[in-house]
Amino acid sequence: MEFETVIGLEVHVELSTKSKIYCTCSTEFGAEENTHICPVCTAFPGTLPALNKQVVEYCIKAGLALDCKINRYSRQDRKHYFYPDLPKAFQTSQFDLPLCYDGFVDLRVPEGDPLDGKANKPSYTKRVGITRIHIEEDAGKLIHEAGVTRLDCNRCGIPLIEIVTEPDFRTAGEVYAFLNHLRAVLIYSDVSNCRMEEGSMRCDVNLSLRPSADAPFGTRTETKNIASLSATVRAIEYERNRQRKVLQKGGTITQNTLRWDDERGENYAMRSKEDAQDYFYFPEPDIMPIVVDDEWLNSIRASLPELPHVRRNRYVGELGLPEYDADFLVGDKVISDLFDECVTLGSAPKSISNWLMSDVARLCNDTGTGFDQLRFGAKGLTDLISLVEGGTISRSAGSKVLESMFTPDERRSPEELVKALGLAQVSDESTILEMCKTAIASNEKAVADYRGGKEKALTSLVGQVMKASRGKANPAVVNKLMKELLAEQ
Ligand SMILES: [Zn+2]
Repeated sequence: MEFETVIGLEVHVELSTKSKIYCTCSTEFGAEENTHICPVCTAFPGTLPALNKQVVEYCIKAGLALDCKINRYSRQDRKHYFYPDLPKAFQTSQFDLPLCYDGFVDLRVPEGDPLDGKANKPSYTKRVGITRIHIEEDAGKLIHEAGVTRLDCNRCGIPLIEIVTEPDFRTAGEVYAFLNHLRAVLIYSDVSNCRMEEGSMRCDVNLSLRPSADAPFGTRTETKNIASLSATVRAIEYERNRQRKVLQKGGTITQNTLRWDDERGENYAMRSKEDAQDYFYFPEPDIMPIVVDDEWLNSIRASLPELPHVRRNRYVGELGLPEYDADFLVGDKVISDLFDECVTLGSAPKSISNWLMSDVARLCNDTGTGFDQLRFGAKGLTDLISLVEGGTISRSAGSKVLESMFTPDERRSPEELVKALGLAQVSDESTILEMCKTAIASNEKAVADYRGGKEKALTSLVGQVMKASRGKANPAVVNKLMKELLAEQ
């Protein structure tokens, strides 16, 4: 018996505000334990929270980027539960009046296994509904070490948004495509850095099976706090197979909260699932309701940047880039911004994307340089491209210049580097003519082959000249003169 998989997500994203949601403590990641705390975020009696306005703006920005409606009147609520990392014993969140609701995302989903590393796979489009997005505070962190547990409150009060989707996903590939899309949208909007390795983005997966697409939903489990995109895919595959085996044997699924252990490749039950009523939600009496007027909403809307899917369509539709190039560029905002600057400076779009996808990406990888750490900028790259396309240096010499531009402390321009490295291309016909004559004189066999109809022999003769010139001869001129010489007799 086969089943349809039904998946919904709850994604927690830390916002990139400088200070926490209800106090002025810093949100810096990785600080010494309990150094970014105060009486408010450690819940001393008698303290009062003051809502950080930027948290509301970032949440609305995320909502607009995901085509949500915005609640003009919303409120914060207390969600009660006891856990040692939550000094207040309640989390300030939003219950029945979230800031954003009823949005959607149109995804492009590549077919097959999302982790097989294959590019250029056929894809289909899929609309996924966003149920709601609300603001809330993060809890602290428990550190278990050498038989001792310590509490670090630095994370208490870090602002979060929770994005809840409709149960619209049917495969791990769709979830993977969504999380990638969401990450890109939030990074482009400057709402979050979405660094999963720092816990800035965490995913809960609700999953159930049903015998057919028109059957009612089955009992679901919730796998909590998955910390990477690939782990999310593995956790989904595992839980789907586990539920399928249980159901095929005629068993029933228990509504549990699960934890995914990515190293062992299996999940285990943490606790039985609680319902909303277990949290005794009630309106937060210490914070005024949030009222969003037209002026405020319009100013937030005006601050939205060009979103990645819009940018992708522009690259393909207006700049004529292949879809593969557009996906590569849009996949990283820094590289995509650099590309746009180079286009503005006048380089041909396809040339820029070729350089970025090949040499720049390779050198970044080899030297451990992030795209955001490139010192030469759009000006350096367009200057280099002009030197190659204008015939001053060969393409391979261009690669050497770029390599030098990656060395630490190198401040010289591409033009200065061409001089310093002696890479200027030789296009002078009389010089090249002499070199061609020498090559013809010393390669009788290749000459005879070419004249006998083997056109490929030309490549080897041209290669001799390139070698003799140490790569500096202009290949187009060499080709032209070599053909003329060979046709002479
Ligand atoms: Zn504080």
